[in-house]
Amino acid sequence: MTNTTDRQRGLDSEPSLEELEQELRRWNYLLDEDRSLAKLLQDDAAEVLRTGLDLREVSAKMERLYREGRRGLGAPVLVDDSFKVTVREDRGIIPCLWRDHFASPKAIIEAVNLKNNRTLTFSVLGWHLISAHGFFQGKGSPFRMEPRELFEFFEET
Ligand SMILES: [Zn+2]
Repeated sequence: MTNTTDRQRGLDSEPSLEELEQELRRWNYLLDEDRSLAKLLQDDAAEVLRTGLDLREVSAKMERLYREGRRGLGAPVLVDDSFKVTVREDRGIIPCLWRDHFASPKAIIEAVNLKNNRTLTFSVLGWHLISAHGFFQGKGSPFRMEPRELFEFFEET
């Protein structure tokens, strides 16, 4: 209580992978995941490369779907004549466990790519975890996303 400096330092410094893994397990991001966090990150990074997924580009596209989609206030919105997007938003925020001060709105984005008929569901936090940390979440997590799935969703047909 008295040592504010230490407390702030603790909050601001990036957690170690071990600490992160503990927290992520506690909050069910790794529900059925047998691999360590380090291994999972490594495997997904390799998969991103194999797939040819351009994370920066895809991350910008996902952000656009969210920003445009939320204008519908819960009703579907047509974005770029190609995507039907519905954003459900709840009150409150969720902090990123990487302690980078990203406070995520509680929003779920459901998008249909009308050109290839694929669907994609993600949360704003999930988008941030992928874009900023290369973390696609673990097996069993309701928002686990396969890099290939993301690639195929945006694939032009
Ligand atoms: Zn973060």
